[in-house]
Amino acid sequence: MRKEVLFVVCLAMVVLLCGSCDMQDDEVWICTGPEAYVWHKTRNCRGLNDCSGSIVKRNVNELGSKYQRKCKICY
Ligand SMILES: [Zn+2]
Repeated sequence: MRKEVLFVVCLAMVVLLCGSCDMQDDEVWICTGPEAYVWHKTRNCRGLNDCSGSIVKRNVNELGSKYQRKCKICY
């Protein structure tokens, strides 16, 4: 019985941790240059090195249709 309770507690903690991970994933980095169409997990990604605009942090849900997919380097 006690092991079952521990199992449920562990499961709940994993779900909670994953939930906070998803919230962090909402914040992404983008280049505002005309040829940029991917978003990045990290500001230091080398995919942002040749950005011709500025590099800004955005919520992934507010990027608009210009940005089509995740970066394959940092994701
Ligand atoms: Zn990247």
